[in-house]
Amino acid sequence: MFCIRCGKQLPDEPNFCPFCGTDLRPTLQVMKEVRASRTQQKVVQIAEDIETVNLGVRKRIDNTGAAIGAEIDQALSQAEQSVNAGVQTAEQSVVNTVNDVTNGVKSAVTDAVESLKDPFGNKNGSSDAS
Ligand SMILES: [Zn+2]
Repeated sequence: MFCIRCGKQLPDEPNFCPFCGTDLRPTLQVMKEVRASRTQQKVVQIAEDIETVNLGVRKRIDNTGAAIGAEIDQALSQAEQSVNAGVQTAEQSVVNTVNDVTNGVKSAVTDAVESLKDPFGNKNGSSDAS
């Protein structure tokens, strides 16, 4: 700083000028208040900057959340379609198996009935008849 009276440059911030003896304490007090005020302004500015960034981040998070939600909905819809298709295939497979078994049983019953009608196998070409 410089002395407010003699104008000489002073080392550090003495309470009294070492050259002319002027009481510098009131000046130092004003300087201190000015610095505090500037620091406060900076703090306020930084707080506002942080709030701005915070709002931006929240907006991004909201947008990202909405996008993720849409993707999840789509994935769920596809999974549901896939499951439904799988269920239909399984149902068809069960129906086919039941039909096969039913036909097999019918055939076996028919064969059994035929064999009862012809217990010695004379009719069915299984003979070496003349
Ligand atoms: Zn001085």
